[in-house]
Amino acid sequence: MATMKRRQFLKKTIAFPLLANGILSIRSMAAPKIYAEHLNKRNLPMYQNYSEKKRHKDPLIRLFLCGDVMTGRGIDQILPNPSEPQIYESYMRNALGYVYLAEKRNGAIDKPVSYDYVWGDALQALNHLAPDVRIINLETSITTNNHYWPGKGIQYRMHPNNIDCLKAADIDICTLANNHVLDWNHEGLRQTLSSLHKANIQTAGAGVDLAEAQRPAVFEIPEKGRVLIFSFADSSSGTPNSWKASHQRAGVNLLDNLSDQTLYQLASHVSAIKRENDIIIASIHWGGNWGYDIDLQHRKFAHGLIEQAGFDIIHGHSSHHPKGIEVYKNKPIIYGCGDFLNDYEGISGQESYRGDLGFMYFLTINAKTGDLIRMQLIPTQIKQFRIQYADKADSLWLQQMMNREGQKLGSQVALENNELLLSW
Ligand SMILES: [Zn+2]
Repeated sequence: MATMKRRQFLKKTIAFPLLANGILSIRSMAAPKIYAEHLNKRNLPMYQNYSEKKRHKDPLIRLFLCGDVMTGRGIDQILPNPSEPQIYESYMRNALGYVYLAEKRNGAIDKPVSYDYVWGDALQALNHLAPDVRIINLETSITTNNHYWPGKGIQYRMHPNNIDCLKAADIDICTLANNHVLDWNHEGLRQTLSSLHKANIQTAGAGVDLAEAQRPAVFEIPEKGRVLIFSFADSSSGTPNSWKASHQRAGVNLLDNLSDQTLYQLASHVSAIKRENDIIIASIHWGGNWGYDIDLQHRKFAHGLIEQAGFDIIHGHSSHHPKGIEVYKNKPIIYGCGDFLNDYEGISGQESYRGDLGFMYFLTINAKTGDLIRMQLIPTQIKQFRIQYADKADSLWLQQMMNREGQKLGSQVALENNELLLSW
């Protein structure tokens, strides 16, 4: 169902019948209101301001992108319907251990939290900037399955009954080609897909077979055009080869490599589906968790995705911190978004990268040409398992870092009205 239509439908029909049936608890009804009072309200610039409208006669499509969203493990434990806390990591045997570590660092969390709690200030920014499509890389399995993937040292899962957490931010699509969606085996993937689809959230990058894993999510934006999101993983992200979907086997859309041959295959896949004026997004899970350097092979592949395969936006993720941004032939390449939500805040190590800081990426795209018109980065911080606006000092730190890394790629950012505005 198209985004606009779905939102209108939800607004009109879902809220009241649920209340009437008593499905929502008193707590979940009351909590959002109480929580809203604590929102750190800011004056955010409007997405579609007057001068932008005047300058661009073509329709503009607005997108929200972010990096890894990990609502499993410790995060799942503070939500209303936590999974069994047993995990099988060498470091930790109980998911509540991650809650304990976070609380030790930043103070107690009033559990259980409401479904919208984890999104914190992000909800205000999303409502204010009103993107046409909201895209996240969901880095967790949604399942009750207790059989983890043999040999997988870290296992993320969220209980399916916590799906309202993703609905609370009105997420439109979860990309799933990553190194955690099969942590709880094929059954875990099957439940992830069915939980998301039941919640009217589209998926791309994983499926019951190769065809579903490769299929893009499609959004029809009224009077603007279509947005197609392809999702794939590279093995450099730690996605095991055994997770690769095939004609007979469920799994993820794992690329063989980043070669010209792979580009050629993607180009023919895109050209078979693409219609005139479609905006085509490549959401790719690649590279390690830490480090600013951009692999030359990754850069060449990103350029190839734009030049040869016809993609308009490269949405890269896997790094736990944001990386530099490039705009190549008017098409944006986000090499690594950085984590948007996770349960790592009590874990020590790699402090110099400030993995607690991230961005909400808001892109304005010319719907006719697919060119980037504007990119706004809203600095965020994860604290008490909740996304909040980064403070001034941290926003300045992010600005300085993005300029240092952007210099190598031809981009710069300026801090204006609590957001970083990209120039190229
Ligand atoms: Zn990952």
